[in-house]
Amino acid sequence: MKFLQDLTFTELSKLLKDFGQPAYRAAQLFKWISQGALYGEMTNVPKSLIDRLIEEGYSDSPIKIIDTFTSKIDGTIKLLYALYDGNVIEGVLMKYKYGNTLCVSTQVGCRMNCAFCASGLDGLIRNLSCGEIIGQIIVVNRLFGNVRAVTNVVLMGSGEPLDNYDETAKFLTAISDDNGLNISKRNISLSTCGLCDKIRKLCDDGYTPTLTISLHAPSDEIRSKIMPVSHRYPISELISAAKYYFDVTGRRVIFEYSMIDNVNDSKDCAYQLAKITKGMSCHINLIRLNTVKERGMRGASDAKVKAFLKILSDKGVSATIRRTLGSDIEGACGQLRRRYLGEVDNV
Ligand code: SAH
Repeated sequence: MKFLQDLTFTELSKLLKDFGQPAYRAAQLFKWISQGALYGEMTNVPKSLIDRLIEEGYSDSPIKIIDTFTSKIDGTIKLLYALYDGNVIEGVLMKYKYGNTLCVSTQVGCRMNCAFCASGLDGLIRNLSCGEIIGQIIVVNRLFGNVRAVTNVVLMGSGEPLDNYDETAKFLTAISDDNGLNISKRNISLSTCGLCDKIRKLCDDGYTPTLTISLHAPSDEIRSKIMPVSHRYPISELISAAKYYFDVTGRRVIFEYSMIDNVNDSKDCAYQLAKITKGMSCHINLIRLNTVKERGMRGASDAKVKAFLKILSDKGVSATIRRTLGSDIEGACGQLRRRYLGEVDNV
């Protein structure tokens, strides 16, 4: 299936040129596409061009919102989307003073199989296309009737963005195009479990989103118990890739550290973490693990999270505890989708 939203501005310009259209048409159409307009709504585009696009197999609508759940505590919204082939993905819209951040998925399922995460429970089902990734933002903007409703994007939904490199890269190009959504690179975060060669490729290819690395352990011994990817890339390589990203882009790297009861929450872990990140331009986000029933792991106690933070701060490491939004509608990564599909009981 092909979608208009799969096209970058350059690709669309070439396609329309091949169709014999005037040069200004690309900007006109790309703007409509970025607004999520359906063919019937593109009032200044000739019917003959629309017919041609349909003939060539381009659909105007890659994704639909099928349900929303709003937190009564802080207004965070969980969203369920349906894809053209019946697959379902989820997203979260978080409201902050500075704007709205949408958490976006890059794959249906995930093959990284981290021991605490619900997204990998069924393995990788398929990659999302650029249009299906950017489509998540566009339909949320439409839901709010405001083309600028989503101001910040985090690639932290289901899937591993760097395991779907080409479509993720295309998405990064399309989203910051000033003919379209024009979201600044500074307002886009990409979270990875640490595919080191792709981290290097990302900045070598000129992409500079805020890089978030899911570290979750200070040693290979602990990390290999919870993140299979660490068998491929030891922590020393990951730190070296993170330093490279900073050297090339000048952008501080964020490390995510989900604290799991009796797995990675000891004081010793905090000291080791301070040691391996020493001298780096980075920030550490501590998050209490959201319990995923099937995974049999619990979040660390508040006291342990606070003690962990104190050690990092005393060692001069920039670190904060990330506040949990939408705790009343919570379902950690991938859980809402599984509940919708009837694969898990309510949690
Ligand atoms: N594949 C990417 C994006 C995944 S989800 C990555 O690994 O970074 C975004 C973040 O949520 C990751 O840091 C992931 O490790 C974390 N995460 C997954 N399940 C979680 C859970 N149950 N509780 C807390 N964080 C979780």
